[in-house]
This record gives sequence, C-alpha cells and structure tokens, in this order.
Amino acid sequence: MTKEEACASRFDAMLAERGVTRRRFLEFCGAIAVTLGLSEALAPSIHQAIAQTVIGKAEGALTPVVWLELASCTGCTESFAQVDTPDIATVVLELISLTYSETLSAGAGFSLEEAKEQTIQNGGYIAVIEGALMEGWDGNALRIANEKGTEIVAHTCSNALAVVCLGSCAVDGGWQAAVPNPGGAIGIEPFLRKALAAGEFSYVGGEGDLPPIINIPTCPANPEHLVAILVDVLLLGRLPDLNEYHMPSLIFGEYIHDNCPRRGHFENGEFVYQFGSEEEKKGYCLYAMGCKGPQTKTNCPVVRWNRRVSWCVESGAPCVGCAQANPNKEGFNWVDLNSPFLNRFKNLRVGDIIVQPAALAATVGAVVVVALVVHGFGMKATGRTKGGADFELERAWDQKHPDQAIGAAAAAAQAAKVQGVENAAGAEPDADATAPTDAAATTDATAPTTDATAPTESTPTDTNSTEDSPTEGGEE
Ligand code: SF4
Repeated sequence: MTKEEACASRFDAMLAERGVTRRRFLEFCGAIAVTLGLSEALAPSIHQAIAQTVIGKAEGALTPVVWLELASCTGCTESFAQVDTPDIATVVLELISLTYSETLSAGAGFSLEEAKEQTIQNGGYIAVIEGALMEGWDGNALRIANEKGTEIVAHTCSNALAVVCLGSCAVDGGWQAAVPNPGGAIGIEPFLRKALAAGEFSYVGGEGDLPPIINIPTCPANPEHLVAILVDVLLLGRLPDLNEYHMPSLIFGEYIHDNCPRRGHFENGEFVYQFGSEEEKKGYCLYAMGCKGPQTKTNCPVVRWNRRVSWCVESGAPCVGCAQANPNKEGFNWVDLNSPFLNRFKNLRVGDIIVQPAALAATVGAVVVVALVVHGFGMKATGRTKGGADFELERAWDQKHPDQAIGAAAAAAQAAKVQGVENAAGAEPDADATAPTDAAATTDATAPTTDATAPTESTPTDTNSTEDSPTEGGEE
C-alpha cells in the first residue's frame, strides 16, 4: 500500500466512525469539483487531497487552506472561480488543499466542521478569510454552525501559517462597516489586534504576536492577487513584501491613474461629463464622473479581471476606489470614503452623521434666502425702510444719553434736544409778555399804594435826596 493509499484508508476509517461512507464523501468531492468548474472525474483527487490534509501535514500532504466565509456577498469566491493562470484545478489540486469552505464545499455539517477542526489542530495551514467580521450583539450578529463568528476567527487564526484577508470587507469591514454599521462590522486584522490587547487571542507561533497577515483589498478581490500570494507563500516559502497596511507592495504600490489607458485624455483635458454622450463614446477620461483612480493604489489596469479580459475603467465605469481599505484606522471603509461614487466630491462626515456637500450647500443657501426674506419683511413692518422704526426713537437709554446715542437714535435725540431748547427759548417771551401784564395789574394796582406809602416808609432813604425834600417841604 502506498503512502497516499494508507492516508486515504485512515481518512475513510475516520469518516466511517462518524457515519459517513466513502461513497458519500466521493459524491461530496464530485460536487466540489463541479462547483469549481472541474470534471466530476477529479473527485478521487479531491478526496485524496483532503484526506492527506486532514490526516496530517506530516504525511506529506498539500498545504491545507481553511476558507472562512463571513459577512459578504461571496463575490471574492466567485471571482476566484474565474482565475486563469494557474487555472482553478492547478490551484486546488497542486497548490492547496481546500479543506474547508462554506461556499465551495458541497458537504456540510459535522464531518466538514470536524475536518476544519483537525486541520486547525494540525497547524501549518493558510486561513483565507472572506467578508467582514460582525462584533455586534456580543458577537451574535454573525454565527456559523452555532458558534460566534468572533470565536471562529480567533480560533482559526490561532495556529495558521498565514492569514489572508481576502477583499476589502475582510481588511477593514468594507460595505458592512459603512455608517451606521449596526452589526459592528470590522476587519480581521483590527479585530485580532483588539482581541490580543484584551487577552482574548493568542497565537501558537508566538506569545503576544499576531499571525502573519496579508491584506488583499478590492471588491471583489482579484483572483490573480490571491494566486500570486499563494505562490509566494507555498512555492517560494516566504511572505511577500508588505506595506504599512500589510498589503503586498508590488500589487498595491502604484496609482490606477498612473497606468490607466485613458490617461492621455486626462492630460488633454478631455473628459466625460455625461453617460451616453459623444465624449463617452470616444473613451474620454472619467475623472469628471467621479473616477477615484487618481487616489487609489492597485494594479487593476495591469492585471485586469475575468481572465484578463477587461476591468472597471476599461469597460466604461469610473473607479470607485474599492482598494482604499485601511486596517489601521477603525471606522474607516472605502464606501463611506468614496460615496457618492459618481461625484467628484466626497461626503462630509461628522461622527456618525454623513452629509452630502451638495445637500449641505442647498440647505445653507435656502436658510440664508429665508432669513433675508424674513429680515426684509421685518424692515418693512417696523418702518426701518423709511428711516427708522418708531420704537428706536423712544429708546430710554438714548433719551437719557443723547450725547452717546448713535445712528437714527442719535439724530432723533439731537432733534428732540434742539426742539427742547427751542421750546424753552420760545417760552420766555411769552412769560415776559404775560408776566408784566399780570404784574402790571398788580403793580399798577398796588403801585400807587406802594408809591403812596413808600415815601413815608422810605423816608430815611428818600431823605437822602435833597431834591425831594424842598418839593415836599414847599407843598407844606
Ligand atoms: Fe485617471 Fe480615472 Fe481618468 Fe483613468 S479614467 S485617467 S484613472 S481619472
């Protein structure tokens, strides 16, 4: 019996213990083959690969891959199924042993979960994680096989050779982390960092360390990128050069704009301003339609997609910046950052509130217009358009302090002051005119009496006059 046959025999015995016959498992392997676009005749090869993986890496098995499907649209898996070089058969049967995949595995239930657990116990596997992790509701926002997603991720990463976060959702939460993010979506690396700090995660390969993490953003992930990483890790036995976001530098080192086939139109100022226009037919630059190529780093124009047929900008859609994931900044995600996708401006974000600049400008403009209209009506109603409102002339303070009053109040106070002076000046002649009248009557009436008595009473004084004396004396 060869080594492989012995391995397969042991694996079949293990399945039998759990009530799974070899025939049933071969059917399961055939289903995997069909799902992957392979011939069903390859089922024995898949069976053998899984058997070698499960029984143990020491037996000379292929490097196992545990592919977790978290909160996602499975677009990364769909994208991976389109891989061309090497083709999917090569990837699955020669590079890796896909031990566990919720999406690709036709089998389910206890046997598959058991295969995953044994792979984790054996170590030396690569964990490929697709989709965001949901921390909400104490980790219950995402449960798989009656287990919290947070616990599954921590356990799966604890003994991995490397952790590949596939797609922007796995890197920083992606779509699921967009505001308001009620499920608490988070990327794998930030989650592991937090769990490590809280003492809720430990890596078998090094106490206090995180496992080697390779982030592959974009939405969905480009299968060529994943294959390149697998070739690096499995065949060359090394991690690729990574930037500060743990992304392969060679893949995510240049701006899309720098390699874009429409770049010449950008330089010439030839832009598309409307879909369906002549400019679009001519293949002009999509910058005015919100293209995020100038601020997004990835090699999409070089690698392209779907067996290198085309890519977003080449097929007429502006780049939406799906590679702008950042695992170092919690709460960051490319959806909030770049939406609305077809506009040049970004949404403004204040805490959890996101405002579109155009809507904000329209609201502020409307408020200003309403305020001006109300102000105009107020001016009209109070009479200020005719020189000032009545109440302004009656301000008590201005009345008391006319010298310090300003504006119309000052003029009114000054006028009132002048009027007061004039009134005061005009009142004196009248007083003089009436006073003498009254006084004259009184004086005249009393004057003779006074005059008559005065000499008598004022004799000593009057006697000082020598002129009066002879007269009075002469009459006598
Ligand atoms: Fe740059 Fe986008 Fe214009 Fe291409 S289409 S040149 S990436 S702005």
